[in-house]
Amino acid sequence: MQEIETLKRWVAESRYTVFFGGAGVSTESGIPDFRSVDGLYHQKYDAPPETILSHSYFSRHPDRFFRFYREKMLYPDALPNGAHETLAEMEKQGRLQAVITQNIDGLHQKAGSKNVLELHGSVLRNYCTKCRRFAGLKEIMASEGIPRCRCGGILKPDVVLYEEALDQQTMYSAVDHIRRAELLIVGGTSLAVYPAAGLIDYYQGNRLVLINLAPTPYDHRADLLIAGKIGQVLSQIRRDGNA
Ligand code: NAD
Repeated sequence: MQEIETLKRWVAESRYTVFFGGAGVSTESGIPDFRSVDGLYHQKYDAPPETILSHSYFSRHPDRFFRFYREKMLYPDALPNGAHETLAEMEKQGRLQAVITQNIDGLHQKAGSKNVLELHGSVLRNYCTKCRRFAGLKEIMASEGIPRCRCGGILKPDVVLYEEALDQQTMYSAVDHIRRAELLIVGGTSLAVYPAAGLIDYYQGNRLVLINLAPTPYDHRADLLIAGKIGQVLSQIRRDGNA
């Protein structure tokens, strides 16, 4: 496939490569995304995910929030796929400077990536809303209903809910990496969730690669557009020894 050859060459030639991804990076690990046909938007709930996963819904209906959250957002047994593994290997070889992710599943770190900017936080971290004590995912999994701290406070996942601001430092750092990137690989994201999607606007290079199953509003900006499964696509550059 011509596109894979081009991608391999660009990875080999680049002195500063950044990856920016979303939920589509983890679908091949069995975690549904929000917008594909079999993603969360096509399943049946009394409210859309944006409503349930919002700050006001969490405050008003923590019971319903956690029912949805436990059922649909937690995949403690999911394993990294070819996309996570290839990116981790590229970083180890000095060929990738940063992973910027909208995902909250921790799979990039599970695959071995070190420099991961989690724009939307992580389900692996939780904090008591009253005493700020840290709690891991195991504690949430071991609890039922609304997870509570020993002090009585509710344990809130360290994920950025709708209506909440993104961490400023993480955003600055993401902008900085994207500004410096010679090669920017974007994949598995509908590029519909802001402000994260707007990060692409900071890219100043001429090698923007977009790997996605469905079309995105940024397709016309891509210097290389690959319509395919990102785990499979990135595995190919790895298999051939160039990653
Ligand atoms: P999205 O659901 O809006 O879009 C996912 C995109 O990935 C779609 O365009 C789809 O066509 C594409 N896709 C799906 N599987 C793919 C594959 N194997 N290869 C290539 N492309 C594939 O996701 P988003 O843009 O990341 O925005 C949704 C928000 O939901 C994010 O903010 C994220 O925090 C959150 N979310 C996270 C997870 C997770 O952590 N795994 C899962 C669901 C939602």
